[in-house]
Amino acid sequence: MAAAENREIRLKSRPVGLPEPTDFELVSAPMPEAGPGQILVRNLWMSVDPYMRARMIDRKSYLPPYQIGQALDGHAVGEVVTSNDPRFKPGDMVQHRLGWRDYSAVAAQDATVIDPAVAPIQAYLGTVGMPGMTAYVGLFRIGEMKGGETIFVSAASGAVGAIVCQIAKLKGCRVIASAGSDDKVGWLEREAGVDVAFNYKTVGDLGAALERAAPDGLDLYFENVGGAHLEAALDNMKTFGRVIMCGLISQYNATEPAAAPRNMFTIVAKQLTLRGFIVSSNLDMRPQFLVDMGKWIADGRIRWQETVEDGLENAPKALLALFQGTNSGKMLVRLDPPA
Ligand code: NDP
Repeated sequence: MAAAENREIRLKSRPVGLPEPTDFELVSAPMPEAGPGQILVRNLWMSVDPYMRARMIDRKSYLPPYQIGQALDGHAVGEVVTSNDPRFKPGDMVQHRLGWRDYSAVAAQDATVIDPAVAPIQAYLGTVGMPGMTAYVGLFRIGEMKGGETIFVSAASGAVGAIVCQIAKLKGCRVIASAGSDDKVGWLEREAGVDVAFNYKTVGDLGAALERAAPDGLDLYFENVGGAHLEAALDNMKTFGRVIMCGLISQYNATEPAAAPRNMFTIVAKQLTLRGFIVSSNLDMRPQFLVDMGKWIADGRIRWQETVEDGLENAPKALLALFQGTNSGKMLVRLDPPA
């Protein structure tokens, strides 16, 4: 029998700059019930992702903004408690997008059964989930990566970046990675097997570091960060190079519009392609992604790190970690909802 009350985290005010704990509140709400065609899920793990910060701004984008006074939402995995859909039974492990609460009543078509034999269930929020698929879509569809190419990856030790580095390596690319601490750089060299990794906070001139790492230039740049990283990468692209525009995390907390790269003419002069994408517009690739990723994991060719914050009440702190760089690999919140 599920608990009588359901805790959820609501947006209390729109953050200005870095989010503050006071921008959120933990509230007890009535326990949801599975309606027709729905399942009731007891959430066990929840994801915090950089895009959530953008949804706290009241503006039109590819996802609607979060509303003040309403519960946030995002990817979560958990156990089916009751089901009004024949495809699910109590005890099934599922992923869905109605996290930031202990229990979720989810429309059956918005949930997917996950296989704990492939990877631990929380990996369906990272390597086998949205971030892993972002790496896969970005490299193969958007970047059209080919073996033998040289690729630069920013935020390289994160949930997306670490998988980008390893897929590119196993497809025969030369991989250059940047991250914000020596520990992260060490992990990228030792565990992800990149060719060159550097700490962008201490390396000095980013453009010069890239030139040393790739004297013949970059075929591909997997852009997660923006700002100085993008400028340095543009300066080091080969003619006809491709930039996979995945994210610009350095700008998500900006209170003023960010300046454009000062070297925009490089895009013309080098005839570059910069192509943005949203992973959820590429769901047709999911079946093949799951096959390939399942095999790479089984063969021990993909590694990942997790940073875990315990308790729903600590989810805002976990979100903040993404912008302070205190997460290594996938940032997760482990929930312990009452049974
Ligand atoms: P990460 O796990 O990489 O966590 C964020 C990391 O970004 C931090 O650990 C930090 O690492 C780095 N970072 C934060 N602020 C800055 C800054 N000002 N300058 C440089 N680095 C910074 O997050 P994800 O892997 O989930 O996301 C990575 C990127 O991918 C984001 O831009 C995100 O928006 C994007 N994304 C895009 C998707 C799409 O569909 N287009 C889908 C999913 C993610 P460090 O210590 O190295 O600084």
